[in-house]
Amino acid sequence: MYNENNIFAKILRKEIPCDKVHEDEYSLFFKDINPQAKIHILGIPKFQCTTFSEFIRNADNENISIFFRNVQVVIKNLGIEKNGYRLITNSGADGGQEVPHFHIHILAGENIGRLREIIL
Ligand code: 5GP
Repeated sequence: MYNENNIFAKILRKEIPCDKVHEDEYSLFFKDINPQAKIHILGIPKFQCTTFSEFIRNADNENISIFFRNVQVVIKNLGIEKNGYRLITNSGADGGQEVPHFHIHILAGENIGRLREIIL
């Protein structure tokens, strides 16, 4: 059950501010408040869903494809494709998800190490 009081829902409703890097009809991308790399962006679909699995299960193909295409738009606009980046989505308790609105972390701007070394 989606909780409309989660912090990203409030950001989408403009009830609390964010440092936006991209917005369109389907998605919002903004800087993480507690960055774990020189570049740390969060990407969220405007579609209400708690996890990646819910997004894929419940959103239509237009929502899904445009959201993921917009991840690439942001990667291109940030200029991080050449040097590289990491995409992460945490899901549920075992995945360590804190905010219950599906989101993708985009980490870049420096060598962020091996997967085992990063804790989000
Ligand atoms: P999760 O652990 O759910 O994958 O990641 C949640 C992320 O949201 C964390 O990296 C955390 O720093 C970020 N975050 C939590 N509250 C806010 C907020 O109010 N604004 C922004 N920009 N990021 C937030």
